[in-house]
Amino acid sequence: ALAGAPDVDALDWSKGDGLLPAVVQDAATLRVLMLGYMDRAAYAETLRRGQVTFFSRSKNRLWTKGEQSGHVLELVSIETDCDSDTLLVMAHPHGPTCHLQRPSCFPGAPAGVLAELDALIATRARERPEGSYTTRLLEGGIRRIAQKVGEEGVETALAGVVQDDDALLGESADLLYHLIVLLRARDLSLTDVERVLRTRGG
Ligand code: AMP
Ligand code: ZN
Ligand code: ZN
Ligand code: ZN
Repeated sequence: ALAGAPDVDALDWSKGDGLLPAVVQDAATLRVLMLGYMDRAAYAETLRRGQVTFFSRSKNRLWTKGEQSGHVLELVSIETDCDSDTLLVMAHPHGPTCHLQRPSCFPGAPAGVLAELDALIATRARERPEGSYTTRLLEGGIRRIAQKVGEEGVETALAGVVQDDDALLGESADLLYHLIVLLRARDLSLTDVERVLRTRGG
């Protein structure tokens, strides 16, 4: 079983015909992806396979999301709410979660912009697509990336000094982008920085 996942018997299956609503959230971007229902068997199967599995009310059977499309939801964690009748599932989506080929079943579901950029840069680092500026930066080596972070840092600081808000915003965006690439070049991510920030009591 998954560390931290509630015991199946600790959940309150009495309210909805043996089904609990399960909200699925992207563990990287925190975007809400979809809502499904789990019965005891679906919950057990989710933990056993490490892929989010529902009881489909239309199919009237267990349904592992992605069983045909391959767009599975790789389980990261599960927790339950205050009265144990709803599940919050964190997962890594392997492709669009919605069958309309959208990342989320809720078209406007917001995701953290920085978390999305972090995830995009990680994908670029893995796949190294030709013609991508990020690929070129990563192949240019860490000294060049570090130099860019320094330049953008100075440009950000100067924009602040001259109180040019448009420039300050633009240079801040440049700085954040290059900072994420620098972290990625060391196999680190913004998530790791967030962990440090949290230990500082923020
Ligand atoms: P999949 O589980 O991705 O292989 O998709 C199998 C079938 O499940 C699709 O043909 C849809 O009918 C349905 N389906 C897929 N994704 C969703 C979703 N996010 N919400 C509801 N139904 C879905
Ligand atoms: Zn509840
Ligand atoms: Zn959908
Ligand atoms: Zn700049």
